[in-house]
Amino acid sequence: MQSVLIIGGGASGAAAAIALARLNPQLRITLLEKNERILKKLLTTGNGKCNITNTAVSPAVYESPLAAAVLQAYDYQAVQAFLASLSLPIKADSSGRCYPLSESANNVVNTLLRALDTAGVTVITGQEVKRIQQEGKAFSVQANACFRADAVIFAIGSAASVKGYNGLDLCANLGWRFPRPTPALCPIPSQEPFLKALKGVRAKGTLRLGERCESGEIQFTETAVSGICAFNLSRYVKAGDTLLIDFTPAGWSKAELAQALQIAAASAAENAQLLDFLLLRKLGTVVLKRAGLQPSGSPQALTQTDFEALLQLLSAFPVTVEAPADMRAAQTVCGGADARYIDPATLMAKQYPGLFVCGELLNVHAPCGGFNLHWAWASGLFAAQAANTYLSGEYRD
Ligand SMILES: Cc1cc2nc3c(=O)[nH]c(=O)nc-3n(C[C@H](O)[C@H](O)[C@H](O)COP(=O)(O)OP(=O)(O)OC[C@H]3O[C@@H](n4cnc5c(N)ncnc54)[C@H](O)[C@@H]3O)c2cc1C
Repeated sequence: MQSVLIIGGGASGAAAAIALARLNPQLRITLLEKNERILKKLLTTGNGKCNITNTAVSPAVYESPLAAAVLQAYDYQAVQAFLASLSLPIKADSSGRCYPLSESANNVVNTLLRALDTAGVTVITGQEVKRIQQEGKAFSVQANACFRADAVIFAIGSAASVKGYNGLDLCANLGWRFPRPTPALCPIPSQEPFLKALKGVRAKGTLRLGERCESGEIQFTETAVSGICAFNLSRYVKAGDTLLIDFTPAGWSKAELAQALQIAAASAAENAQLLDFLLLRKLGTVVLKRAGLQPSGSPQALTQTDFEALLQLLSAFPVTVEAPADMRAAQTVCGGADARYIDPATLMAKQYPGLFVCGELLNVHAPCGGFNLHWAWASGLFAAQAANTYLSGEYRD
Protein backbone atom coordinates (compact mmCIF):
# COMPACT_ATOMS: atom_id res chain seq x y z
CA MET A 1 0.00 0.00 0.00
CA GLN A 2 1.43 3.42 -0.93
CA SER A 3 1.72 5.95 1.85
CA VAL A 4 1.73 9.75 2.04
CA LEU A 5 2.76 11.97 4.92
CA ILE A 6 1.20 15.39 5.20
CA ILE A 7 3.34 17.63 7.42
CA GLY A 8 1.29 20.41 9.03
CA GLY A 9 -2.36 20.35 10.12
CA GLY A 10 -3.42 23.80 8.96
CA ALA A 11 -5.94 24.72 6.26
CA SER A 12 -3.68 23.66 3.38
CA GLY A 13 -2.60 20.37 4.97
CA ALA A 14 -6.18 19.45 5.90
CA ALA A 15 -7.46 20.27 2.39
CA ALA A 16 -4.64 18.24 0.85
CA ALA A 17 -5.30 15.24 3.11
CA ILE A 18 -9.07 15.19 2.44
CA ALA A 19 -8.63 15.66 -1.31
CA LEU A 20 -5.96 12.97 -1.59
CA ALA A 21 -8.03 10.45 0.34
CA ARG A 22 -10.99 11.16 -1.93
CA LEU A 23 -8.83 10.83 -5.07
CA ASN A 24 -7.30 7.55 -3.97
CA PRO A 25 -8.95 5.73 -1.05
CA GLN A 26 -6.24 3.04 -1.29
CA LEU A 27 -3.53 5.39 0.01
CA ARG A 28 -2.39 5.34 3.62
CA ILE A 29 -2.45 9.01 4.57
CA THR A 30 -0.96 10.29 7.81
CA LEU A 31 -1.04 13.93 8.89
CA LEU A 32 1.68 15.03 11.35
CA GLU A 33 1.08 18.14 13.45
CA LYS A 34 3.42 19.68 16.02
CA ASN A 35 0.66 21.15 18.20
CA GLU A 36 -1.65 19.13 20.40
CA ARG A 37 -4.49 19.96 18.01
CA ILE A 38 -4.73 20.75 14.34
CA LEU A 39 -6.29 23.81 12.65
CA LYS A 40 -5.51 26.16 15.54
CA LYS A 41 -4.83 29.18 13.33
CA LEU A 42 -8.03 28.68 11.40
CA LEU A 43 -10.03 29.24 14.60
CA THR A 44 -8.73 32.82 14.80
CA THR A 45 -9.43 33.79 11.19
CA GLY A 46 -11.77 36.60 10.24
CA ASN A 47 -12.21 37.55 13.90
CA GLY A 48 -13.70 34.11 14.52
CA LYS A 49 -15.98 34.29 11.45
CA CYS A 50 -13.42 32.86 8.97
CA ASN A 51 -13.14 34.94 5.81
CA ILE A 52 -12.78 31.72 3.85
CA THR A 53 -12.26 32.87 0.24
CA ASN A 54 -13.07 35.78 -2.08
CA THR A 55 -15.07 35.96 -5.30
CA ALA A 56 -12.32 38.13 -6.88
CA VAL A 57 -9.56 35.51 -6.65
CA SER A 58 -7.21 35.68 -9.65
CA PRO A 59 -3.47 35.04 -10.20
CA ALA A 60 -2.86 38.81 -10.36
CA VAL A 61 -3.83 39.14 -6.69
CA TYR A 62 -0.99 36.89 -5.56
CA GLU A 63 2.17 38.39 -7.12
CA SER A 64 3.90 35.03 -7.56
CA PRO A 65 4.89 32.79 -10.45
CA LEU A 66 3.74 29.88 -8.28
CA ALA A 67 0.12 31.03 -8.31
CA ALA A 68 -1.02 30.79 -11.95
CA ALA A 69 -1.41 27.02 -12.46
CA VAL A 70 -2.87 26.49 -8.99
CA LEU A 71 -5.50 29.19 -9.44
CA GLN A 72 -6.35 28.08 -12.93
CA ALA A 73 -7.22 24.68 -11.48
CA TYR A 74 -8.74 25.96 -8.23
CA ASP A 75 -10.42 29.27 -8.81
CA TYR A 76 -13.21 30.69 -6.65
CA GLN A 77 -15.84 28.29 -8.07
CA ALA A 78 -13.64 25.21 -7.59
CA VAL A 79 -12.86 26.07 -3.97
CA GLN A 80 -16.50 26.93 -3.32
CA ALA A 81 -17.45 23.50 -4.71
CA PHE A 82 -14.86 21.78 -2.50
CA LEU A 83 -16.16 23.58 0.60
CA ALA A 84 -19.77 22.78 -0.36
CA SER A 85 -18.81 19.10 -0.72
CA LEU A 86 -17.67 19.19 2.91
CA SER A 87 -21.03 20.70 3.92
CA LEU A 88 -19.56 24.20 4.19
CA PRO A 89 -21.78 26.44 2.04
CA ILE A 90 -20.49 30.01 1.86
CA LYS A 91 -21.91 33.49 1.26
CA ALA A 92 -20.23 36.58 -0.16
CA ASP A 93 -20.60 40.11 1.19
CA SER A 94 -20.85 43.15 -1.09
CA SER A 95 -17.05 43.39 -1.40
CA GLY A 96 -16.61 39.74 -2.42
CA ARG A 97 -15.39 38.48 0.96
CA CYS A 98 -16.81 35.02 1.59
CA TYR A 99 -17.72 33.48 4.92
CA PRO A 100 -19.28 30.17 5.91
CA LEU A 101 -23.05 30.53 6.28
CA SER A 102 -22.63 29.84 10.00
CA GLU A 103 -20.07 32.71 10.24
CA SER A 104 -18.18 30.45 12.60
CA ALA A 105 -14.52 29.49 12.25
CA ASN A 106 -15.18 26.96 14.97
CA ASN A 107 -17.78 25.23 12.76
CA VAL A 108 -15.30 25.22 9.86
CA VAL A 109 -12.71 23.49 12.03
CA ASN A 110 -15.24 20.91 13.26
CA THR A 111 -16.36 20.22 9.70
CA LEU A 112 -12.77 19.68 8.55
CA LEU A 113 -12.07 17.39 11.51
CA ARG A 114 -15.13 15.32 10.57
CA ALA A 115 -14.08 15.20 6.92
CA LEU A 116 -10.56 14.02 7.81
CA ASP A 117 -12.05 11.30 9.96
CA THR A 118 -14.54 10.21 7.28
CA ALA A 119 -11.73 10.15 4.71
CA GLY A 120 -9.73 7.79 6.91
CA VAL A 121 -6.78 10.15 7.40
CA THR A 122 -4.66 9.30 10.45
CA VAL A 123 -3.92 12.49 12.37
CA ILE A 124 -0.98 12.37 14.78
CA THR A 125 -0.48 15.48 16.90
CA GLY A 126 2.44 16.49 19.12
CA GLN A 127 4.86 15.58 16.31
CA GLU A 128 7.19 18.41 15.38
CA VAL A 129 9.00 17.41 12.22
CA LYS A 130 12.73 18.16 12.46
CA ARG A 131 14.11 16.64 9.28
CA ILE A 132 12.91 15.40 5.91
CA GLN A 133 15.21 13.16 3.89
CA GLN A 134 14.81 11.37 0.60
CA GLU A 135 16.10 7.82 0.65
CA GLY A 136 15.87 6.35 -2.81
CA LYS A 137 12.35 7.12 -3.96
CA ALA A 138 10.92 7.12 -0.45
CA PHE A 139 11.04 9.72 2.32
CA SER A 140 12.13 9.48 5.91
CA VAL A 141 10.59 12.11 8.18
CA GLN A 142 12.04 12.65 11.63
CA ALA A 143 9.69 13.97 14.32
CA ASN A 144 9.40 12.58 17.87
CA ALA A 145 9.13 9.29 16.03
CA CYS A 146 10.47 8.41 12.59
CA PHE A 147 7.98 8.05 9.72
CA ARG A 148 8.43 6.75 6.17
CA ALA A 149 6.34 7.46 3.10
CA ASP A 150 6.30 7.28 -0.70
CA ALA A 151 5.38 10.95 -0.99
CA VAL A 152 5.23 13.95 1.31
CA ILE A 153 3.05 17.05 1.27
CA PHE A 154 4.86 19.81 3.13
CA ALA A 155 2.27 22.22 4.58
CA ILE A 156 3.83 23.84 7.64
CA GLY A 157 2.65 27.41 7.03
CA SER A 158 4.74 30.34 8.21
CA ALA A 159 5.96 32.00 11.40
CA ALA A 160 3.09 34.52 11.30
CA SER A 161 1.47 34.64 14.75
CA VAL A 162 3.22 31.39 15.70
CA LYS A 163 5.61 30.64 18.56
CA GLY A 164 8.66 28.44 17.93
CA TYR A 165 8.45 27.96 14.17
CA ASN A 166 11.22 25.73 12.79
CA GLY A 167 10.16 25.82 9.14
CA LEU A 168 13.16 27.85 7.98
CA ASP A 169 15.56 25.27 9.43
CA LEU A 170 13.64 22.49 7.69
CA CYS A 171 13.89 24.38 4.40
CA ALA A 172 17.62 25.06 4.94
CA ASN A 173 18.15 21.33 5.50
CA LEU A 174 16.55 20.72 2.12
CA GLY A 175 19.04 23.18 0.60
CA TRP A 176 16.43 25.91 -0.01
CA ARG A 177 17.94 29.33 0.58
CA PHE A 178 15.60 32.31 0.48
CA PRO A 179 15.48 35.58 2.41
CA ARG A 180 13.84 35.34 5.84
CA PRO A 181 10.12 36.01 5.28
CA THR A 182 8.90 39.30 6.72
CA PRO A 183 5.65 39.92 8.65
CA ALA A 184 2.67 40.90 6.52
CA LEU A 185 -0.95 41.87 7.10
CA CYS A 186 -0.09 43.52 10.37
CA PRO A 187 -0.08 47.01 11.89
CA ILE A 188 2.67 49.28 10.50
CA PRO A 189 4.91 50.15 13.46
CA SER A 190 6.04 53.70 14.13
CA GLN A 191 7.65 55.55 17.01
CA GLU A 192 6.11 58.91 16.15
CA PRO A 193 5.44 60.51 19.58
CA PHE A 194 2.02 61.83 18.49
CA LEU A 195 0.70 58.25 18.23
CA LYS A 196 0.46 58.11 22.04
CA ALA A 197 -2.35 60.67 21.85
CA LEU A 198 -4.14 58.78 19.08
CA LYS A 199 -4.62 55.38 20.72
CA GLY A 200 -8.00 54.01 19.60
CA VAL A 201 -8.70 56.85 17.14
CA ARG A 202 -10.15 55.94 13.73
CA ALA A 203 -10.38 57.93 10.51
CA LYS A 204 -11.33 57.36 6.89
CA GLY A 205 -8.63 58.02 4.34
CA THR A 206 -5.97 56.74 2.00
CA LEU A 207 -2.53 55.46 2.98
CA ARG A 208 0.23 56.03 0.45
CA LEU A 209 3.58 54.29 0.31
CA GLY A 210 5.49 55.38 -2.77
CA GLU A 211 3.32 54.38 -5.74
CA ARG A 212 1.08 52.10 -3.69
CA CYS A 213 -2.06 53.24 -1.95
CA GLU A 214 -4.90 51.70 0.04
CA SER A 215 -8.13 53.38 1.10
CA GLY A 216 -10.49 52.61 3.95
CA GLU A 217 -10.63 52.88 7.70
CA ILE A 218 -7.34 53.84 9.35
CA GLN A 219 -6.89 52.94 13.00
CA PHE A 220 -4.21 54.29 15.31
CA THR A 221 -2.56 52.50 18.20
CA GLU A 222 0.13 53.87 20.52
CA THR A 223 2.82 52.32 18.35
CA ALA A 224 1.35 51.70 14.92
CA VAL A 225 -0.94 52.68 12.09
CA SER A 226 -3.45 49.88 11.72
CA GLY A 227 -6.66 48.88 9.95
CA ILE A 228 -7.13 46.83 6.79
CA CYS A 229 -5.49 49.41 4.50
CA ALA A 230 -2.39 49.47 6.76
CA PHE A 231 -2.38 45.67 6.87
CA ASN A 232 -2.37 45.52 3.07
CA LEU A 233 0.51 48.02 2.78
CA SER A 234 2.48 46.31 5.57
CA ARG A 235 3.61 43.78 2.96
CA TYR A 236 5.78 46.43 1.35
CA VAL A 237 7.10 48.70 4.15
CA LYS A 238 10.72 48.99 5.19
CA ALA A 239 12.30 50.75 8.18
CA GLY A 240 12.66 54.46 7.49
CA ASP A 241 9.91 54.57 4.85
CA THR A 242 7.47 57.45 5.04
CA LEU A 243 3.81 56.53 5.05
CA LEU A 244 1.57 59.39 3.91
CA ILE A 245 -2.00 59.64 5.16
CA ASP A 246 -4.46 61.41 2.91
CA PHE A 247 -7.59 62.43 4.82
CA THR A 248 -9.26 63.99 1.77
CA PRO A 249 -12.78 62.52 1.63
CA ALA A 250 -13.40 60.11 -1.25
CA GLY A 251 -14.43 62.02 -4.35
CA TRP A 252 -13.34 65.46 -3.07
CA SER A 253 -10.93 67.65 -4.99
CA LYS A 254 -8.20 69.70 -3.30
CA ALA A 255 -10.28 72.82 -4.03
CA GLU A 256 -13.29 71.35 -2.21
CA LEU A 257 -11.12 70.54 0.81
CA ALA A 258 -9.66 74.07 0.78
CA GLN A 259 -13.15 75.55 0.62
CA ALA A 260 -14.37 73.40 3.53
CA LEU A 261 -11.38 74.56 5.57
CA GLN A 262 -12.11 78.22 4.76
CA ILE A 263 -15.74 77.80 5.86
CA ALA A 264 -14.61 76.09 9.07
CA ALA A 265 -12.14 78.91 9.78
CA ALA A 266 -14.89 81.49 9.36
CA SER A 267 -17.10 79.84 11.99
CA ALA A 268 -14.59 78.33 14.45
CA ALA A 269 -14.00 80.11 17.77
CA GLU A 270 -10.54 78.60 18.15
CA ASN A 271 -8.15 76.53 16.05
CA ALA A 272 -9.06 73.35 17.94
CA GLN A 273 -12.45 73.36 16.12
CA LEU A 274 -10.97 73.95 12.66
CA LEU A 275 -10.79 70.31 11.56
CA ASP A 276 -13.96 69.10 13.29
CA PHE A 277 -15.65 68.91 9.88
CA LEU A 278 -13.32 66.05 8.92
CA LEU A 279 -11.43 64.49 11.82
CA LEU A 280 -11.98 63.45 15.42
CA ARG A 281 -10.75 66.20 17.73
CA LYS A 282 -7.72 64.21 18.98
CA LEU A 283 -6.53 63.65 15.42
CA GLY A 284 -7.31 67.21 14.39
CA THR A 285 -5.19 68.47 17.30
CA VAL A 286 -2.23 66.36 16.16
CA VAL A 287 -2.55 67.75 12.63
CA LEU A 288 -2.80 71.34 13.94
CA LYS A 289 0.31 70.95 16.11
CA ARG A 290 2.22 69.38 13.22
CA ALA A 291 1.35 72.51 11.22
CA GLY A 292 2.81 74.59 14.05
CA LEU A 293 -0.59 75.92 15.19
CA GLN A 294 -1.84 76.23 18.76
CA PRO A 295 -5.27 74.62 19.33
CA SER A 296 -6.17 77.63 21.52
CA GLY A 297 -5.12 80.10 18.81
CA SER A 298 -7.59 82.20 16.82
CA PRO A 299 -8.60 81.08 13.30
CA GLN A 300 -8.86 84.75 12.36
CA ALA A 301 -5.07 85.02 12.80
CA LEU A 302 -4.31 82.20 10.31
CA THR A 303 -2.11 83.21 7.39
CA GLN A 304 -2.19 81.85 3.83
CA THR A 305 0.93 79.85 4.74
CA ASP A 306 -0.92 78.29 7.69
CA PHE A 307 -3.80 77.27 5.42
CA GLU A 308 -1.41 75.77 2.90
CA ALA A 309 0.44 73.86 5.65
CA LEU A 310 -2.85 72.46 6.95
CA LEU A 311 -4.07 71.48 3.50
CA GLN A 312 -0.74 69.83 2.77
CA LEU A 313 -0.95 67.80 6.00
CA LEU A 314 -4.57 66.81 5.39
CA SER A 315 -3.61 65.28 2.05
CA ALA A 316 -0.15 63.93 2.97
CA PHE A 317 0.34 63.54 6.71
CA PRO A 318 3.75 61.86 7.11
CA VAL A 319 4.41 58.95 9.46
CA THR A 320 7.89 57.45 9.65
CA VAL A 321 7.87 53.66 9.65
CA GLU A 322 9.88 51.74 12.18
CA ALA A 323 10.77 48.12 11.39
CA PRO A 324 10.64 45.30 11.87
CA ALA A 325 6.92 44.74 12.23
CA ASP A 326 5.88 42.24 14.84
CA MET A 327 5.66 38.68 13.51
CA ARG A 328 3.35 37.82 16.41
CA ALA A 329 0.82 40.35 15.09
CA ALA A 330 1.12 39.25 11.45
CA GLN A 331 -1.58 37.28 9.64
CA THR A 332 0.83 36.08 6.98
CA VAL A 333 4.35 36.66 5.63
CA CYS A 334 6.08 37.95 2.52
CA GLY A 335 8.55 35.39 1.28
CA GLY A 336 9.03 31.66 1.48
CA ALA A 337 9.97 28.71 -0.74
CA ASP A 338 9.97 29.98 -4.31
CA ALA A 339 9.98 28.91 -7.93
CA ARG A 340 13.74 28.24 -7.87
CA TYR A 341 12.97 25.18 -5.75
CA ILE A 342 9.33 24.41 -6.53
CA ASP A 343 7.88 23.55 -9.94
CA PRO A 344 4.86 25.87 -10.48
CA ALA A 345 3.21 23.27 -12.74
CA THR A 346 3.04 20.62 -9.99
CA LEU A 347 4.13 22.29 -6.68
CA MET A 348 6.70 19.46 -6.51
CA ALA A 349 10.17 20.25 -5.15
CA LYS A 350 12.56 20.32 -8.11
CA GLN A 351 15.32 18.38 -6.31
CA TYR A 352 13.03 15.98 -4.45
CA PRO A 353 10.57 14.07 -6.66
CA GLY A 354 7.59 13.13 -4.49
CA LEU A 355 7.86 16.12 -2.13
CA PHE A 356 5.02 18.60 -2.68
CA VAL A 357 4.69 22.00 -1.00
CA CYS A 358 1.50 23.98 -0.36
CA GLY A 359 0.07 26.85 1.68
CA GLU A 360 1.84 29.75 3.30
CA LEU A 361 5.26 28.08 3.23
CA LEU A 362 5.35 29.07 -0.43
CA ASN A 363 6.31 32.59 -1.49
CA VAL A 364 2.76 33.58 -2.36
CA HIS A 365 0.99 36.36 -0.49
CA ALA A 366 -2.13 38.39 -0.95
CA PRO A 367 -4.07 41.25 0.67
CA CYS A 368 -6.75 40.82 3.33
CA GLY A 369 -10.15 39.57 2.17
CA GLY A 370 -10.04 35.75 2.17
CA PHE A 371 -7.32 35.48 -0.45
CA ASN A 372 -4.77 33.85 1.85
CA LEU A 373 -7.14 31.12 2.95
CA HIS A 374 -8.12 30.66 -0.68
CA TRP A 375 -4.46 30.03 -1.42
CA ALA A 376 -4.28 27.49 1.42
CA TRP A 377 -7.31 25.53 0.11
CA ALA A 378 -6.35 25.84 -3.57
CA SER A 379 -2.69 24.92 -3.18
CA GLY A 380 -3.59 22.03 -0.82
CA LEU A 381 -6.07 20.64 -3.35
CA PHE A 382 -3.57 21.14 -6.16
CA ALA A 383 -0.73 19.45 -4.26
CA ALA A 384 -3.02 16.49 -3.49
CA GLN A 385 -3.87 16.07 -7.15
CA ALA A 386 -0.21 16.35 -8.18
CA ALA A 387 0.88 13.87 -5.49
CA ASN A 388 -1.75 11.40 -6.67
CA THR A 389 -0.55 11.77 -10.26
CA TYR A 390 3.05 11.32 -9.09
CA LEU A 391 2.18 8.14 -7.17
CA SER A 392 0.41 6.75 -10.21
CA GLY A 393 3.83 6.87 -11.91
CA GLU A 394 3.09 9.66 -14.36
CA TYR A 395 5.88 12.09 -13.41
CA ARG A 396 8.64 9.53 -13.15
CA ASP A 397 11.63 9.57 -15.54
C1 LIG B 1 -5.20 36.13 13.34
C2 LIG B 1 -5.26 35.68 11.91
C3 LIG B 1 -6.41 35.90 11.18
C4 LIG B 1 -6.47 35.51 9.84
N1 LIG B 1 -7.63 35.69 9.16
C5 LIG B 1 -7.71 35.31 7.87
C6 LIG B 1 -8.92 35.42 7.15
O1 LIG B 1 -9.97 35.77 7.71
N2 LIG B 1 -8.91 35.09 5.82
C7 LIG B 1 -7.79 34.64 5.19
O2 LIG B 1 -7.83 34.39 3.98
N3 LIG B 1 -6.63 34.47 5.86
C8 LIG B 1 -6.57 34.77 7.17
N4 LIG B 1 -5.41 34.56 7.87
C9 LIG B 1 -4.29 33.89 7.17
C10 LIG B 1 -4.60 32.38 7.08
O3 LIG B 1 -4.99 31.91 8.35
C11 LIG B 1 -3.35 31.61 6.61
O4 LIG B 1 -2.95 32.12 5.34
C12 LIG B 1 -3.63 30.12 6.46
O5 LIG B 1 -4.11 29.59 7.68
C13 LIG B 1 -2.35 29.38 6.07
O6 LIG B 1 -2.62 28.00 6.04
P1 LIG B 1 -1.42 26.97 6.04
O7 LIG B 1 -2.03 25.63 6.05
O8 LIG B 1 -0.46 27.29 4.95
O9 LIG B 1 -0.62 27.26 7.40
P2 LIG B 1 -1.09 27.12 8.91
O10 LIG B 1 -2.55 27.33 9.04
O11 LIG B 1 -0.18 27.98 9.67
O12 LIG B 1 -0.82 25.59 9.25
C14 LIG B 1 0.48 25.06 9.35
C15 LIG B 1 0.43 23.93 10.36
O13 LIG B 1 1.70 23.28 10.37
C16 LIG B 1 2.07 23.05 11.70
N5 LIG B 1 3.53 22.97 11.76
C17 LIG B 1 4.43 23.97 11.64
N6 LIG B 1 5.68 23.50 11.72
C18 LIG B 1 5.57 22.18 11.90
C19 LIG B 1 6.53 21.12 12.04
N7 LIG B 1 7.84 21.35 12.02
N8 LIG B 1 6.08 19.85 12.21
C20 LIG B 1 4.74 19.58 12.23
N9 LIG B 1 3.80 20.54 12.09
C21 LIG B 1 4.21 21.82 11.91
C22 LIG B 1 1.52 24.24 12.46
O14 LIG B 1 1.40 23.99 13.83
C23 LIG B 1 0.17 24.42 11.77
O15 LIG B 1 -0.84 23.66 12.36
C24 LIG B 1 -5.33 34.90 9.21
C25 LIG B 1 -4.19 34.66 9.97
C26 LIG B 1 -4.15 35.04 11.30
C27 LIG B 1 -2.90 34.75 12.09
